[in-house]
Amino acid sequence: MLGILRSLVQEVNSARDLTEALGIIVSRVQKAMNTEVCSVYLLDPVSNRYILMATEGLYPQAVGKVSLAHSEGLVGLVGSREEPINLEDAPSHPRYRYFPETGEERFRSFLGVPIIHHRQVLGVLVVQQRENTRCFDEGEEAFLVTVSAQLSGVIAHSEATGAISGLSLTGEQAHDVSFNGVPGSPGVAIGHGVVVYPAADLDVVPDKLTTDINQELALFQSAVQAVREDIEQVAERLTSRLRPEELALFDVYLRMLSEEALPDEVRNRIREGFWAQGALKQVVQHYISHFEMMDDHYLQERAVDIRDLGRRLLSYLQEGEQKDLNYPEKTVLVSDELTPSMLGEVPRGRLVGLVSVKGASNSHVAILARAMGVPTVMGLVDIPVNQLDGKELIVDGFDGRIFSSPSPDLRSFFQTIRDEEREIDRGLEALRDLPCETTDGHRVPLLVNTGLMTDVVRSLSHGAEGIGLYRTEVPFMIKDRFPSEQEQRQYYRDQLEAFAPSPVTMRTLDVGGDKALTYFPIEEENPFLGWRGIRVTLDHPEIFLVQVRAMLKASEGLNNLQIMLPMVSNISEVEESLHLIYRVYHEVREEGFEIHMPKVGVMIEIPAAVYQVRELADRVDFLSVGSNDLTQYLLAVDRNNPRVAGLYHSYHPAVLQALVRVAQDAHAAGKPVGICGELAGDPGGALLLMAMGYDSLSMNAASLPKVKYVIRSVSREWAVRLLKDVLLLDSPHVIKSCVDLALRNAGFGRYLRPHQTKAASTTPLASQVLSQN
Ligand code: PEP
Ligand code: MG
Repeated sequence: MLGILRSLVQEVNSARDLTEALGIIVSRVQKAMNTEVCSVYLLDPVSNRYILMATEGLYPQAVGKVSLAHSEGLVGLVGSREEPINLEDAPSHPRYRYFPETGEERFRSFLGVPIIHHRQVLGVLVVQQRENTRCFDEGEEAFLVTVSAQLSGVIAHSEATGAISGLSLTGEQAHDVSFNGVPGSPGVAIGHGVVVYPAADLDVVPDKLTTDINQELALFQSAVQAVREDIEQVAERLTSRLRPEELALFDVYLRMLSEEALPDEVRNRIREGFWAQGALKQVVQHYISHFEMMDDHYLQERAVDIRDLGRRLLSYLQEGEQKDLNYPEKTVLVSDELTPSMLGEVPRGRLVGLVSVKGASNSHVAILARAMGVPTVMGLVDIPVNQLDGKELIVDGFDGRIFSSPSPDLRSFFQTIRDEEREIDRGLEALRDLPCETTDGHRVPLLVNTGLMTDVVRSLSHGAEGIGLYRTEVPFMIKDRFPSEQEQRQYYRDQLEAFAPSPVTMRTLDVGGDKALTYFPIEEENPFLGWRGIRVTLDHPEIFLVQVRAMLKASEGLNNLQIMLPMVSNISEVEESLHLIYRVYHEVREEGFEIHMPKVGVMIEIPAAVYQVRELADRVDFLSVGSNDLTQYLLAVDRNNPRVAGLYHSYHPAVLQALVRVAQDAHAAGKPVGICGELAGDPGGALLLMAMGYDSLSMNAASLPKVKYVIRSVSREWAVRLLKDVLLLDSPHVIKSCVDLALRNAGFGRYLRPHQTKAASTTPLASQVLSQN
């Protein structure tokens, strides 16, 4: 059964559209189970009915015509119970419904299993048999359940492909379809999609049509020629080092490149109108699935060769083409996995929105997007994003969803929201030079998190009182090698000078997890539990020492530097780091620099550190909570994984209890404690943290004016009462609602996620089917 399942999944994966995918499923399952009927019914959210979408054994003309209400018939029963139903004599069941147009009365045994994706019932897969002596056995039931579980993602993906083109399940026009991910950065953007993808990755090449077939043919021809020459050269170079049977591999490659093989098929696709890269992708993927399905292990392995050859051809086709990307005036950058360098390539002023398949709200690219104030949706899984290229898109960064090819009504609805947002921001500009102080005189310095120089400029205009977290890894991430001491010194000097005499807290390099340096790759099974932050830099003192030296030299004459250590889980890490920092301090002074010993602090981001706050506080000058990581480690929820984004909750009672404890223990040890996670930039979160006694709040520049406005409008006493109330609650959702309600009642509704964007009611298809939450 496993073999059948594997080839079924591969075939379905390479289907061109939903109809083809469902056709493959019903015919293969019918054959594999040796049954008379196999059908798929999909739930159409527009009509809330199960539609017969494909069948093998019922009348083909019933496809698309027969439908059942949500709770009608046995199909409805399977869907509502969300479990298989296996009946020997279906017509005698009280829920049996008879449809003469399907020819169904001839069949008696019925086995139906739900197709469920991310808790949503997408449809029902049914097999039927004429003789009532047949009862589908447990093994068959298990097989059908496995088929359904394996294929639900593919079905969701194919449905979405149709929906992006504005088609409903029945092939009718469907407008204003939304695709749900998770909020990355708040705001609304309206622009045109530009899909960017890592070079030479066939899987992510978009399916585009070309208007210049001859040019694509010529491009392809020269790529084939170039790869052929490469292979011949490599083979020649290796002749003396390889045995003849190993060298034969190169002949295989060259044969595959011969005229009548792969190239001819690609040319045919190009003549059908596909651009060369898309044509190549289709042909190579077809070959790969063909080889992978073979039973012979040797032939299965050939799939690897085809993939390699495809990649070589693709890299020639792509030469120079990413540079020629045409960024429209209002670009919504879309990618399977956005990276900071992709953002950097969009010409200044053209980037209005971001969409990423991978990652979630607290992925670092989302944090960067918030710092830049670019509306972003993350975790748009199961959506064929490459279809979004060139489409008009609305990015709703409040609710974490996008709309493709919106209707004029929907566009103007979101334009209004965007304009209102701008107006609120302008209104808050007046607060810039006012202190962040409650109505009863409690002062809370608002600091800013930075990474790039642009953040600094924005922070100054928003009235930040210093830098609470400078993520030094950001300048490291946009280079193609480690920056030299001199280069680092310049970056750090810029940050220190911009805020002097206010404090600038520089965190030592925090790479690992989801922050990769292309020139220092870290491959791990469990990167967030692995070699990250201080663990990396203590293992590489040469990196740490150069960085601290650059920081200290940059601080000369300004004396506003503070150094902070990330990902600390052991006291010994602090002691070793302090030892190195003192060493550099003395060396730099000996070199003649007039510097002062900076304050050194520790980030509290790991549960172990929460329980050792006193011991840590005894050794350092200050503490700062990294609530982004603390939340992920306390709740065991990968901050980067959209599938569990619904479980990542900074208002979780356990997180709040930990935060209370950290503030109390730090103060008991006589040390100041701040917070620099995203919770500090959430107006409700900021009030709770202030009530807990946090001495400073550090956030992205865009959040600062709203947080200041809210804090200036309440008394500390009010916030303390709110904190007391929420600490009695046991559900993160209830706590969030309770805080939101209190803020709304206090008149801050428009400063929360301002618009519960009513457009949900105008989103017929896929929005519910594909909902990730
Ligand atoms: C945090 O973990 O809360 C934090 C501020 O650090 P980063 O988001 O860079 O991991
Ligand atoms: Mg962190």
